[in-house]
Amino acid sequence: MATGPARDVMAAHPDLPVEHLGDMLLAPGFVDVHCHTEWSLSGGLAEGPGFGRWLRAFLTAMVRSGWSGHRAAADLAVLSAVRAGTTTLCDSGPTGAGVGAATGAGLRAIVCLEAFGDDPARADETATRVAALAEAAGPLVRVGVSPHAPYSVGPVLWAALAGHPGLGGVAWSTHLAESADEDRALAFGDGPVADALAELGATIPRWPGGSDASPVARLAAAGALRDGLVAAHCVRIDADDVALLAHAGVRVAHCPISNSRLGCGRMPLEALAAAGVAVGLGTDSPGSAGAYDVRAEARACEVLHGGVLAPPSAARLVELATLGGARALGLEGETGSLEPGRSADLVAVRPAPGAGLAGDPNEALLRADSEVRHSWIAGRPLLRDGVPCTLDTERIVTEAAEVRRNLC
Ligand SMILES: [Zn+2]
Repeated sequence: MATGPARDVMAAHPDLPVEHLGDMLLAPGFVDVHCHTEWSLSGGLAEGPGFGRWLRAFLTAMVRSGWSGHRAAADLAVLSAVRAGTTTLCDSGPTGAGVGAATGAGLRAIVCLEAFGDDPARADETATRVAALAEAAGPLVRVGVSPHAPYSVGPVLWAALAGHPGLGGVAWSTHLAESADEDRALAFGDGPVADALAELGATIPRWPGGSDASPVARLAAAGALRDGLVAAHCVRIDADDVALLAHAGVRVAHCPISNSRLGCGRMPLEALAAAGVAVGLGTDSPGSAGAYDVRAEARACEVLHGGVLAPPSAARLVELATLGGARALGLEGETGSLEPGRSADLVAVRPAPGAGLAGDPNEALLRADSEVRHSWIAGRPLLRDGVPCTLDTERIVTEAAEVRRNLC
Protein backbone atom coordinates (compact mmCIF):
# COMPACT_ATOMS: atom_id res chain seq x y z
CA MET A 1 0.00 0.00 0.00
CA ALA A 2 0.94 3.64 -0.28
CA THR A 3 0.24 6.12 2.51
CA GLY A 4 0.41 9.87 2.91
CA PRO A 5 -1.68 13.00 2.40
CA ALA A 6 -4.55 12.17 0.02
CA ARG A 7 -3.37 14.78 -2.49
CA ASP A 8 0.08 13.17 -2.77
CA VAL A 9 -1.16 9.57 -2.95
CA MET A 10 -3.73 10.44 -5.62
CA ALA A 11 -1.12 12.31 -7.63
CA ALA A 12 1.22 9.32 -7.49
CA HIS A 13 -1.55 6.89 -8.54
CA PRO A 14 -3.77 8.79 -10.98
CA ASP A 15 -5.10 5.56 -12.49
CA LEU A 16 -6.72 4.31 -9.27
CA PRO A 17 -10.34 5.04 -8.34
CA VAL A 18 -10.95 7.34 -5.36
CA GLU A 19 -13.44 6.55 -2.62
CA HIS A 20 -14.43 9.04 0.09
CA LEU A 21 -15.20 7.30 3.36
CA GLY A 22 -16.33 10.35 5.29
CA ASP A 23 -15.68 10.52 9.02
CA MET A 24 -14.53 6.94 9.34
CA LEU A 25 -11.61 5.71 11.40
CA LEU A 26 -9.22 3.84 9.11
CA ALA A 27 -7.02 1.28 10.84
CA PRO A 28 -5.08 -1.88 10.09
CA GLY A 29 -7.43 -4.88 9.98
CA PHE A 30 -7.63 -6.70 13.30
CA VAL A 31 -5.42 -9.72 13.92
CA ASP A 32 -6.75 -12.67 15.93
CA VAL A 33 -3.74 -14.61 17.19
CA HIS A 34 -5.59 -17.60 18.62
CA CYS A 35 -9.02 -18.96 17.77
CA HIS A 36 -10.87 -22.18 17.01
CA THR A 37 -13.14 -21.74 14.01
CA GLU A 38 -14.38 -25.30 14.36
CA TRP A 39 -15.92 -24.51 17.77
CA SER A 40 -18.09 -21.57 16.72
CA LEU A 41 -21.24 -23.44 17.70
CA SER A 42 -20.06 -24.41 21.18
CA GLY A 43 -21.33 -21.34 23.03
CA GLY A 44 -23.16 -22.21 26.23
CA LEU A 45 -22.48 -25.95 25.99
CA ALA A 46 -19.88 -26.04 28.76
CA GLU A 47 -19.39 -24.12 31.97
CA GLY A 48 -17.02 -24.14 34.91
CA PRO A 49 -16.39 -23.27 37.58
CA GLY A 50 -12.74 -23.81 36.80
CA PHE A 51 -10.89 -24.82 33.66
CA GLY A 52 -10.90 -28.59 34.23
CA ARG A 53 -14.65 -28.83 34.80
CA TRP A 54 -15.25 -26.65 31.75
CA LEU A 55 -12.88 -28.83 29.66
CA ARG A 56 -14.67 -32.00 30.68
CA ALA A 57 -18.09 -30.62 29.67
CA PHE A 58 -16.68 -29.09 26.48
CA LEU A 59 -14.95 -32.29 25.32
CA THR A 60 -18.03 -34.36 26.07
CA ALA A 61 -20.21 -32.02 24.00
CA MET A 62 -17.74 -31.83 21.12
CA VAL A 63 -17.15 -35.58 20.91
CA ARG A 64 -20.91 -36.09 20.86
CA SER A 65 -21.12 -33.69 17.90
CA GLY A 66 -19.10 -35.96 15.60
CA TRP A 67 -17.10 -34.36 12.80
CA SER A 68 -19.59 -33.61 10.07
CA GLY A 69 -20.40 -30.08 11.18
CA HIS A 70 -16.89 -28.69 11.38
CA ARG A 71 -16.89 -26.94 8.00
CA ALA A 72 -20.24 -25.31 8.71
CA ALA A 73 -18.92 -24.17 12.10
CA ALA A 74 -15.70 -22.85 10.56
CA ASP A 75 -17.66 -20.91 7.93
CA LEU A 76 -19.78 -19.31 10.67
CA ALA A 77 -16.65 -18.38 12.64
CA VAL A 78 -15.08 -16.75 9.60
CA LEU A 79 -18.31 -14.87 8.91
CA SER A 80 -18.29 -13.57 12.51
CA ALA A 81 -14.62 -12.61 12.26
CA VAL A 82 -15.14 -10.72 9.01
CA ARG A 83 -18.07 -8.79 10.49
CA ALA A 84 -15.89 -7.90 13.49
CA GLY A 85 -13.19 -6.39 11.26
CA THR A 86 -10.68 -9.23 11.47
CA THR A 87 -8.46 -9.53 8.41
CA THR A 88 -5.97 -12.11 9.76
CA LEU A 89 -6.52 -15.00 12.11
CA CYS A 90 -4.62 -17.97 13.49
CA ASP A 91 -6.91 -20.97 13.84
CA SER A 92 -6.32 -24.31 15.56
CA GLY A 93 -8.55 -27.33 15.16
CA PRO A 94 -8.69 -31.09 14.85
CA THR A 95 -9.83 -31.25 11.20
CA GLY A 96 -8.36 -28.12 9.60
CA ALA A 97 -11.80 -27.06 8.37
CA GLY A 98 -10.63 -23.47 8.80
CA VAL A 99 -8.50 -23.87 5.66
CA GLY A 100 -11.54 -24.15 3.40
CA ALA A 101 -13.45 -21.49 5.34
CA ALA A 102 -10.65 -18.91 5.25
CA THR A 103 -9.78 -19.70 1.64
CA GLY A 104 -13.42 -19.29 0.58
CA ALA A 105 -13.67 -15.96 2.37
CA GLY A 106 -10.38 -14.60 1.08
CA LEU A 107 -9.22 -14.07 4.66
CA ARG A 108 -5.53 -14.06 5.59
CA ALA A 109 -5.03 -17.01 7.93
CA ILE A 110 -2.74 -19.53 9.53
CA VAL A 111 -4.59 -22.78 10.24
CA CYS A 112 -2.86 -25.21 12.58
CA LEU A 113 -3.94 -28.85 12.58
CA GLU A 114 -4.16 -30.15 16.13
CA ALA A 115 -2.41 -33.31 17.31
CA PHE A 116 -3.15 -35.30 20.47
CA GLY A 117 -1.63 -38.17 22.45
CA ASP A 118 1.95 -39.38 22.77
CA ASP A 119 2.29 -41.92 19.96
CA PRO A 120 5.19 -40.86 17.69
CA ALA A 121 3.55 -42.64 14.75
CA ARG A 122 1.00 -39.81 14.71
CA ALA A 123 3.65 -37.41 13.44
CA ASP A 124 3.63 -39.03 9.99
CA GLU A 125 -0.13 -39.01 9.82
CA THR A 126 -0.25 -35.37 10.97
CA ALA A 127 2.34 -34.31 8.39
CA THR A 128 0.37 -36.04 5.63
CA ARG A 129 -2.81 -34.23 6.65
CA VAL A 130 -0.98 -30.89 6.92
CA ALA A 131 0.40 -31.37 3.38
CA ALA A 132 -3.07 -32.17 2.03
CA LEU A 133 -4.56 -29.10 3.71
CA ALA A 134 -1.74 -26.92 2.36
CA GLU A 135 -2.52 -28.20 -1.12
CA ALA A 136 -6.12 -27.04 -0.74
CA ALA A 137 -5.25 -23.67 0.81
CA GLY A 138 -5.60 -20.39 -1.05
CA PRO A 139 -2.70 -17.95 -1.49
CA LEU A 140 -3.41 -16.08 1.78
CA VAL A 141 -3.77 -19.22 3.91
CA ARG A 142 -0.87 -21.10 5.48
CA VAL A 143 -1.15 -24.43 7.22
CA GLY A 144 0.68 -25.33 10.41
CA VAL A 145 0.56 -27.79 13.27
CA SER A 146 -0.64 -27.52 16.85
CA PRO A 147 0.33 -30.03 19.49
CA HIS A 148 -2.78 -29.16 21.49
CA ALA A 149 -1.34 -28.65 25.00
CA PRO A 150 1.22 -30.30 27.30
CA TYR A 151 -1.59 -32.08 29.19
CA SER A 152 -2.96 -33.62 25.96
CA VAL A 153 0.29 -34.19 24.00
CA GLY A 154 3.32 -35.90 25.48
CA PRO A 155 7.02 -35.20 24.91
CA VAL A 156 7.48 -38.23 22.61
CA LEU A 157 4.90 -37.13 20.03
CA TRP A 158 5.94 -33.47 20.48
CA ALA A 159 9.54 -34.38 19.60
CA ALA A 160 8.39 -36.53 16.67
CA LEU A 161 6.37 -33.62 15.28
CA ALA A 162 9.32 -31.25 15.76
CA GLY A 163 11.69 -33.66 14.04
CA HIS A 164 9.42 -34.46 11.12
CA PRO A 165 10.75 -33.01 7.85
CA GLY A 166 7.24 -32.09 6.75
CA LEU A 167 6.54 -30.02 9.86
CA GLY A 168 9.80 -28.24 10.64
CA GLY A 169 9.10 -25.21 8.46
CA VAL A 170 5.39 -24.73 9.16
CA ALA A 171 3.70 -22.53 11.77
CA TRP A 172 3.31 -23.97 15.27
CA SER A 173 0.79 -23.17 17.97
CA THR A 174 -0.26 -24.66 21.31
CA HIS A 175 -2.08 -23.95 24.58
CA LEU A 176 0.29 -23.38 27.49
CA ALA A 177 0.16 -22.52 31.20
CA GLU A 178 -3.55 -21.76 31.09
CA SER A 179 -4.84 -22.88 34.49
CA ALA A 180 -4.06 -24.21 37.95
CA ASP A 181 -5.81 -27.41 36.90
CA GLU A 182 -3.19 -27.83 34.14
CA ASP A 183 -0.38 -27.34 36.70
CA ARG A 184 -1.87 -30.08 38.86
CA ALA A 185 -2.40 -32.48 35.97
CA LEU A 186 1.23 -32.14 34.87
CA ALA A 187 2.57 -32.37 38.42
CA PHE A 188 0.48 -35.24 39.79
CA GLY A 189 -1.46 -36.69 36.84
CA ASP A 190 -4.79 -36.13 38.58
CA GLY A 191 -7.46 -33.48 39.17
CA PRO A 192 -10.17 -32.03 36.90
CA VAL A 193 -8.06 -31.98 33.69
CA ALA A 194 -7.03 -35.61 34.20
CA ASP A 195 -10.71 -36.46 34.83
CA ALA A 196 -11.68 -34.69 31.58
CA LEU A 197 -9.14 -36.67 29.55
CA ALA A 198 -10.08 -39.92 31.28
CA GLU A 199 -13.58 -39.51 29.78
CA LEU A 200 -11.88 -39.91 26.39
CA GLY A 201 -9.71 -42.81 27.54
CA ALA A 202 -6.58 -40.63 27.67
CA THR A 203 -4.06 -40.10 30.46
CA ILE A 204 -1.84 -37.14 31.35
CA PRO A 205 1.58 -37.49 29.71
CA ARG A 206 4.79 -37.37 31.74
CA TRP A 207 6.95 -34.30 31.11
CA PRO A 208 10.28 -33.66 32.85
CA GLY A 209 10.38 -31.72 36.11
CA GLY A 210 9.42 -32.19 39.76
CA SER A 211 6.03 -31.54 41.30
CA ASP A 212 6.69 -27.80 41.54
CA ALA A 213 7.91 -27.32 37.95
CA SER A 214 5.84 -24.95 35.80
CA PRO A 215 4.40 -26.05 32.45
CA VAL A 216 6.82 -23.69 30.67
CA ALA A 217 9.80 -25.13 32.56
CA ARG A 218 8.70 -28.67 31.69
CA LEU A 219 8.51 -27.87 27.97
CA ALA A 220 11.83 -26.04 28.13
CA ALA A 221 13.48 -29.03 29.85
CA ALA A 222 12.19 -31.30 27.10
CA GLY A 223 13.42 -28.96 24.36
CA ALA A 224 9.83 -28.42 23.21
CA LEU A 225 9.84 -24.61 23.12
CA ARG A 226 10.72 -23.31 19.66
CA ASP A 227 11.18 -20.05 17.83
CA GLY A 228 7.89 -18.80 16.42
CA LEU A 229 5.69 -21.11 18.52
CA VAL A 230 2.45 -19.27 19.31
CA ALA A 231 1.49 -20.20 22.86
CA ALA A 232 -2.05 -19.33 23.87
CA HIS A 233 -2.86 -18.11 27.40
CA CYS A 234 0.47 -18.21 29.34
CA VAL A 235 -1.33 -17.11 32.50
CA ARG A 236 0.49 -19.34 35.00
CA ILE A 237 4.01 -18.05 34.41
CA ASP A 238 6.60 -16.42 36.66
CA ALA A 239 9.68 -14.35 35.88
CA ASP A 240 11.77 -17.46 35.08
CA ASP A 241 9.10 -18.65 32.65
CA VAL A 242 8.99 -15.25 30.95
CA ALA A 243 12.75 -15.47 30.44
CA LEU A 244 12.44 -19.01 29.03
CA LEU A 245 9.73 -17.95 26.59
CA ALA A 246 11.72 -14.88 25.49
CA HIS A 247 14.92 -16.88 25.07
CA ALA A 248 13.17 -19.52 22.95
CA GLY A 249 11.43 -16.97 20.70
CA VAL A 250 7.94 -18.08 21.72
CA ARG A 251 5.07 -15.67 20.91
CA VAL A 252 2.00 -15.36 23.11
CA ALA A 253 -1.72 -15.12 22.39
CA HIS A 254 -3.50 -13.29 25.18
CA CYS A 255 -7.14 -14.42 25.53
CA PRO A 256 -8.57 -12.18 28.27
CA ILE A 257 -12.26 -13.11 27.91
CA SER A 258 -11.58 -16.85 28.12
CA ASN A 259 -9.14 -16.38 31.01
CA SER A 260 -11.69 -14.29 32.91
CA ARG A 261 -14.69 -16.55 32.29
CA LEU A 262 -12.85 -19.72 33.30
CA GLY A 263 -11.27 -18.05 36.34
CA CYS A 264 -7.76 -18.78 35.06
CA GLY A 265 -6.23 -15.48 36.14
CA ARG A 266 -4.36 -12.60 34.59
CA MET A 267 -1.56 -13.04 32.08
CA PRO A 268 1.49 -10.88 32.97
CA LEU A 269 1.11 -8.74 29.86
CA GLU A 270 3.69 -6.08 30.56
CA ALA A 271 6.30 -8.51 31.95
CA LEU A 272 6.16 -10.42 28.66
CA ALA A 273 6.35 -7.23 26.64
CA ALA A 274 9.28 -5.96 28.72
CA ALA A 275 11.13 -9.22 27.99
CA GLY A 276 10.59 -8.70 24.26
CA VAL A 277 7.97 -11.43 23.81
CA ALA A 278 5.56 -10.61 20.97
CA VAL A 279 2.00 -10.58 22.32
CA GLY A 280 -1.28 -10.32 20.45
CA LEU A 281 -4.94 -10.92 21.29
CA GLY A 282 -6.83 -14.16 20.74
CA THR A 283 -10.57 -14.78 20.76
CA ASP A 284 -10.41 -18.55 21.45
CA SER A 285 -13.99 -19.68 20.76
CA PRO A 286 -17.54 -19.06 21.98
CA GLY A 287 -17.04 -22.24 24.04
CA SER A 288 -15.14 -20.14 26.57
CA ALA A 289 -15.16 -16.58 25.21
CA GLY A 290 -16.94 -14.33 22.70
CA ALA A 291 -17.68 -14.47 18.99
CA TYR A 292 -14.32 -13.90 17.24
CA ASP A 293 -14.28 -10.16 18.02
CA VAL A 294 -10.75 -8.85 18.63
CA ARG A 295 -12.04 -5.44 19.73
CA ALA A 296 -14.09 -7.16 22.47
CA GLU A 297 -10.91 -8.90 23.64
CA ALA A 298 -9.14 -5.52 23.76
CA ARG A 299 -11.90 -4.09 25.94
CA ALA A 300 -11.75 -7.16 28.21
CA CYS A 301 -7.99 -6.75 28.38
CA GLU A 302 -8.44 -3.22 29.68
CA VAL A 303 -10.81 -4.43 32.42
CA LEU A 304 -8.70 -7.47 33.37
CA HIS A 305 -5.45 -5.55 33.72
CA GLY A 306 -6.97 -2.29 34.96
CA GLY A 307 -8.09 -3.98 38.16
CA VAL A 308 -4.49 -4.58 39.20
CA LEU A 309 -2.32 -1.95 37.59
CA ALA A 310 -2.91 1.09 35.44
CA PRO A 311 -4.94 -0.27 32.52
CA PRO A 312 -3.25 -0.44 29.13
CA SER A 313 -3.85 2.74 27.13
CA ALA A 314 -6.23 2.72 24.17
CA ALA A 315 -3.20 3.08 21.89
CA ARG A 316 -1.58 0.02 23.49
CA LEU A 317 -4.80 -1.98 23.12
CA VAL A 318 -5.09 -1.08 19.44
CA GLU A 319 -1.45 -2.05 18.99
CA LEU A 320 -2.15 -5.45 20.60
CA ALA A 321 -5.15 -5.90 18.27
CA THR A 322 -3.18 -5.10 15.12
CA LEU A 323 0.61 -4.88 14.86
CA GLY A 324 1.21 -6.83 18.08
CA GLY A 325 -0.86 -9.67 16.67
CA ALA A 326 0.93 -9.53 13.34
CA ARG A 327 4.30 -9.72 15.15
CA ALA A 328 3.09 -12.67 17.23
CA LEU A 329 2.28 -14.50 13.99
CA GLY A 330 5.49 -13.43 12.25
CA LEU A 331 3.42 -11.54 9.68
CA GLU A 332 4.46 -7.97 10.53
CA GLY A 333 6.13 -7.62 7.13
CA GLU A 334 2.78 -8.22 5.44
CA THR A 335 0.04 -6.86 7.68
CA GLY A 336 -0.79 -5.15 10.97
CA SER A 337 0.21 -1.57 10.15
CA LEU A 338 -0.56 1.20 7.69
CA GLU A 339 2.85 1.49 6.13
CA PRO A 340 4.17 1.50 2.58
CA GLY A 341 5.15 -2.00 1.56
CA ARG A 342 2.53 -3.68 3.76
CA SER A 343 -0.52 -5.31 2.28
CA ALA A 344 -3.64 -3.11 2.25
CA ASP A 345 -5.43 -5.04 5.01
CA LEU A 346 -7.67 -2.31 6.35
CA VAL A 347 -10.75 -1.73 8.42
CA ALA A 348 -13.01 1.34 8.40
CA VAL A 349 -14.95 1.95 11.62
CA ARG A 350 -17.73 4.51 12.01
CA PRO A 351 -17.18 6.13 15.40
CA ALA A 352 -20.04 6.15 17.87
CA PRO A 353 -21.93 9.44 18.06
CA GLY A 354 -19.94 11.76 20.26
CA ALA A 355 -16.81 9.61 20.05
CA GLY A 356 -15.75 10.96 16.72
CA LEU A 357 -12.67 12.63 15.48
CA ALA A 358 -12.58 15.21 18.27
CA GLY A 359 -11.64 12.55 20.85
CA ASP A 360 -8.93 9.91 21.10
CA PRO A 361 -9.26 7.95 17.84
CA ASN A 362 -7.89 4.77 19.45
CA GLU A 363 -10.54 4.92 22.13
CA ALA A 364 -13.23 5.59 19.53
CA LEU A 365 -11.98 2.67 17.42
CA LEU A 366 -12.39 0.21 20.30
CA ARG A 367 -15.80 1.31 21.58
CA ALA A 368 -18.48 -1.36 21.23
CA ASP A 369 -20.88 1.21 19.78
CA SER A 370 -18.40 2.22 17.07
CA GLU A 371 -19.34 0.13 14.05
CA VAL A 372 -17.11 -1.86 11.73
CA ARG A 373 -18.40 -0.84 8.28
CA HIS A 374 -15.81 -1.86 5.69
CA SER A 375 -12.70 -4.00 5.43
CA TRP A 376 -10.23 -4.92 2.75
CA ILE A 377 -7.64 -7.66 2.31
CA ALA A 378 -4.74 -6.73 0.07
CA GLY A 379 -6.96 -3.92 -1.23
CA ARG A 380 -9.86 -6.22 -2.13
CA PRO A 381 -13.18 -5.58 -0.35
CA LEU A 382 -14.06 -8.12 2.32
CA LEU A 383 -16.81 -6.17 4.08
CA ARG A 384 -18.87 -3.38 2.51
CA ASP A 385 -21.38 -1.36 4.56
CA GLY A 386 -21.35 -4.14 7.17
CA VAL A 387 -22.14 -6.84 4.59
CA PRO A 388 -19.54 -9.55 3.82
CA CYS A 389 -18.60 -9.41 0.13
CA THR A 390 -17.09 -12.86 -0.29
CA LEU A 391 -19.42 -14.97 1.84
CA ASP A 392 -22.92 -16.35 1.34
CA THR A 393 -24.29 -15.24 4.70
CA GLU A 394 -27.70 -16.91 4.32
CA ARG A 395 -26.25 -20.31 3.41
CA ILE A 396 -23.67 -20.17 6.20
CA VAL A 397 -26.21 -19.25 8.87
CA THR A 398 -28.70 -21.88 7.68
CA GLU A 399 -26.13 -24.68 7.65
CA ALA A 400 -24.71 -23.63 11.03
CA ALA A 401 -28.17 -23.55 12.58
CA GLU A 402 -28.74 -27.13 11.42
CA VAL A 403 -25.49 -28.30 13.04
CA ARG A 404 -26.23 -26.41 16.23
CA ARG A 405 -29.67 -28.05 16.50
CA ASN A 406 -27.97 -31.45 16.54
CA LEU A 407 -25.57 -30.32 19.28
CA CYS A 408 -28.19 -29.36 21.82
ZN1 LIG B 1 -7.72 -22.24 22.53
